[in-house]
Amino acid sequence: MNICVVGTGYVGLVTGSVFSDLGNEVICVDNNAEKIAMLERGEMPIYEPGLEEMVKRNREDHRLFFTTDLTYAVERSDVVFICVGTPPTETGDPDMRAIQEVARGIARALNRYKVIVNKSTVPVGTGDMVREIIETNRVRNVDFDVVSNPEFLREGSAIKDTLEPDRIVIGAPNHVVAMKILELYAPLERPMIITDVASAEMIKYASNAFLATKISFANTIANICDQVGADVAQVVKGMGLDSRIGPAFLNPGLGYGGSCFPKDTAALVRTAEKVGVDFKILRAVMDVNAEQPIRFLDRLRAALDGSFDGKTIGILGLAFKPNTDDMRDAKSVEIIARLLAENAEVKAYDPIAMDNARRIFPQICYGKNAYDVAQDADALVIVTEWNEFKLLDMERIKSSMRRPILFDGRNIYDPIRMRRLGFEYQCVGRTRAT
Ligand code: NAD
Repeated sequence: MNICVVGTGYVGLVTGSVFSDLGNEVICVDNNAEKIAMLERGEMPIYEPGLEEMVKRNREDHRLFFTTDLTYAVERSDVVFICVGTPPTETGDPDMRAIQEVARGIARALNRYKVIVNKSTVPVGTGDMVREIIETNRVRNVDFDVVSNPEFLREGSAIKDTLEPDRIVIGAPNHVVAMKILELYAPLERPMIITDVASAEMIKYASNAFLATKISFANTIANICDQVGADVAQVVKGMGLDSRIGPAFLNPGLGYGGSCFPKDTAALVRTAEKVGVDFKILRAVMDVNAEQPIRFLDRLRAALDGSFDGKTIGILGLAFKPNTDDMRDAKSVEIIARLLAENAEVKAYDPIAMDNARRIFPQICYGKNAYDVAQDADALVIVTEWNEFKLLDMERIKSSMRRPILFDGRNIYDPIRMRRLGFEYQCVGRTRAT
């Protein structure tokens, strides 16, 4: 099939690469000329394991192309995937301008029947909106259908998630249209669910909201564990073994960040509000998430004699999670901003995200590695659980620090071992672990 993918971000570039790898001819479009120029030079605008090789292979085999020309790409395609960003606005509603602009562009380029597939995360009703925009703006009286096919990939394992998704959701106006998209995914041999368009749009938000709920739930249990002498690692293990609960996303820490959970929870609360439903649970999930890093910093400040002023704080990990360079809504951003506001000196290191971090915080120091960051620090804070932080030479770290204060925001170290090594060690929900 001839496919057009609009938006070459984490979702679009991965989707386009995987569909080309499955033998389709794919044209990826972006209105960011710099991104397209990089891709044409064989450079990746984002970091995603395995992506560069896949893009290279399919470009060389002439199945994957890049352009800034939406009309050119749409005219040559049978299926158009919309994968542009829907960033949050101040109200919590997603910014729909890119989707609307792309829909108008598709309308102008519509030259024969096509299926327009929305992969971006969008509020219920967007399928109808896209259909109306195309109907009103098309220059030729050509038929088309709009499908919702929400994306569930995780940054850091996006290729694997796209090849082996838990499920593929296809929200279509009728079965014939659904089958056209189902055909594209058939080679993956994964579970598929066909729904109406509104239900597919809702599945995405409901899933992300539920996962966020599990995280905030685990964080609240952890905060209680800290006070009552229980060890949250043991508690979530015991909970997760219950097949009705499951272990995934019961990870206490600094809370969720990234480009999806914060914006999607806010958007669902807004959708609920607009139809007269007060989504109390989800509002509480968001509150817990906002409080989690503040609680952590309060404990760190207390360990540093009540003030960050003039103290050097080492930050390990800047990306919102391991194996990505994405820093959108990363907890590191919030933590560093608060530390700087209280006159701390911040030194940071991340294996992949430092270029992105430099754009946000040009004023802080960046280390070559974890040891560099620990040197002369008053405290070391683990913000992202990269694998390379899990087996550091902790004796070397301790001896190079000004004060051996280790705050593990992702619970990657064993509290007993760290205390035995002489660290003043704190984590989340394991304070009294023995
Ligand atoms: P992104 O910001 O990485 O990429 C979006 C791309 O769209 C950018 O390259 C941008 O230049 C391009 N773009 C914007 N307006 C355009 C236009 N008018 N014409 C052509 N290109 C345009 O975003 P992303 O992380 O890939 O997310 C895309 C959508 O998928 C969002 O709705 C997001 O919520 C959803 N989603 C993201 C993830 C994830 O892990 N990143 C997972 C599932 C769903």
